[in-house]
Amino acid sequence: MALDRASNFKKYSCLVLLATAILIPLQLCNSGSAAAASVSYQAKIEAEMDEKTKKKEKSKPRKADMSWTKLQKQFPGTFVINGPRNKKRVALTFDDAPDSRFTPAVLDVLAKYDVCATFFVVGSRAAQKPELVRRMNRECHAVGNHSYNHAVMSKLSKEDFRKQISRTDAIIHGIIGYHPRYIRPPYGEILPSQVAWAKKNEFVVVNWDVDSVDWRNNPSTETVLRNIRRTLQPGSIILQHAGGGSSQDLSGTVNALPRLISSLRQKGYEFVTLPELLGKTAYKNQK
Ligand SMILES: [Zn+2]
Repeated sequence: MALDRASNFKKYSCLVLLATAILIPLQLCNSGSAAAASVSYQAKIEAEMDEKTKKKEKSKPRKADMSWTKLQKQFPGTFVINGPRNKKRVALTFDDAPDSRFTPAVLDVLAKYDVCATFFVVGSRAAQKPELVRRMNRECHAVGNHSYNHAVMSKLSKEDFRKQISRTDAIIHGIIGYHPRYIRPPYGEILPSQVAWAKKNEFVVVNWDVDSVDWRNNPSTETVLRNIRRTLQPGSIILQHAGGGSSQDLSGTVNALPRLISSLRQKGYEFVTLPELLGKTAYKNQK
């Protein structure tokens, strides 16, 4: 009996193994071809945004800070990481928007607390969700250019860099009727020659002096708040996100906002848009 069972078990195991051996490659082939067929532009962007998380983890902020200091000195007023330090004003900035998972939630909190902020939108995403960009504009927020598909600008040719800016510029203009003055390069990475071009064309390149680090490891509300408080001071420009890759969860950012706003207001801070903080309009030409 026991032997029979054992031999049955063996037979059964062999069948299962055989079936698995046939089915797994089939499954892989299927998902592979389906994935290949459905690789959309959006998926590419999302993959790149997920990649961003890994990339930033590896990056050395100190090195970036040093080059940012150089750029600030070389291009005063064109390459900016903070506003005037003599007034208790700060600017909330949200990158990688619009994203229907998180942008409406961020907009809801800002509306509830009567805060005007700045959104750096990705051109390809804006084209897909124009109603969210329209809402930003309608609800007192400034809209800036965050490239067309979240490219690493510093790795692009002169022509490709300009295309990233102009394509997004045209999309935003088509939605809200103005050409944004403010550019934020993805990952904050930009070459001196690209900043020089921005200056010549009346753009302002805006990075940040406060990083909420909400792009890494889906942080909790507490972690987001702690990261912001670490370097916040009058004139600070705060980096947060209102969109991201499919594996990103920005609930920490959304939930941190009411506490951040209340506690900074209690300390006498005012929340302003980048145009207010930096004293230049959100748009380059007449509306
Ligand atoms: Zn970004």
